[in-house]
Amino acid sequence: MVKDAKIIDISYDYAPIIKMDPTLFINRVKYQSIHDIERYGKYLVFILDTDAMIMHMRMEGKFYIKKINDHVSSHEHVIFSFSDGRQMRYHDVRKFGTIHLLDKNSYKNQYPINGLGKEPKDLDPLDFYQLIHHRKTAIKNVLLNQHIISGLGNIYVDETLFLSGIHPKRLANKITKKEASKLVTSAREVLDKAIALGGSTIRSYTSSLGVHGRFQNELNVHTKFGEPCPKCQNTIVKMKVGGRTSYVCESCQK
Ligand SMILES: [Zn+2]
Repeated sequence: MVKDAKIIDISYDYAPIIKMDPTLFINRVKYQSIHDIERYGKYLVFILDTDAMIMHMRMEGKFYIKKINDHVSSHEHVIFSFSDGRQMRYHDVRKFGTIHLLDKNSYKNQYPINGLGKEPKDLDPLDFYQLIHHRKTAIKNVLLNQHIISGLGNIYVDETLFLSGIHPKRLANKITKKEASKLVTSAREVLDKAIALGGSTIRSYTSSLGVHGRFQNELNVHTKFGEPCPKCQNTIVKMKVGGRTSYVCESCQK
């Protein structure tokens, strides 16, 4: 949808999102075209003529494609104008998102992309077991750690643990090889479903990062506090694990 779009102007109203001098950023990005969009964990990477523009949208960020004359909302902080009269607007209520600009030939070896763990689809289950089996920390924290496995946010981790039948507070060093394998396949299942239900436009990229749209209706446990578990009908409970609100069926998840 934005592939081959040529960026002819950029405006912003909140500079801290742009992780370099905004004037330099604008001068470098202006007149480059978007050739491809890649995803690394929670990062979205726009491949331009010579640079890679790396976005992290945190919880709330999303992109909208609008026409140049459409009303600009107060939450649209960075606006890319295309030569065809459309605009790609970065919308972020909490303003926690970030944009890095790096050379497209070397960005994978630089912050923030370097040091990221593999995504579930690329992660060998036995390698995952090796990464976690010495860690005396709750499995939920391990799954949220982007240096170990990337792409899973709080919601996806709750769903992954539920499908795996594993309690979020279980210590990672108590997870068996078989369970580690189950976690990786469950994480793939959750992400595939989220992407499939997110649609096929640019919004699907935000959907695969935060959770929007129809995937929200397909959750098994997350946000389902007080409701019956879809597997066993036991009541779903809410608890804090590593500071994050977690939803658990304590009868299915051991
Ligand atoms: Zn249950």
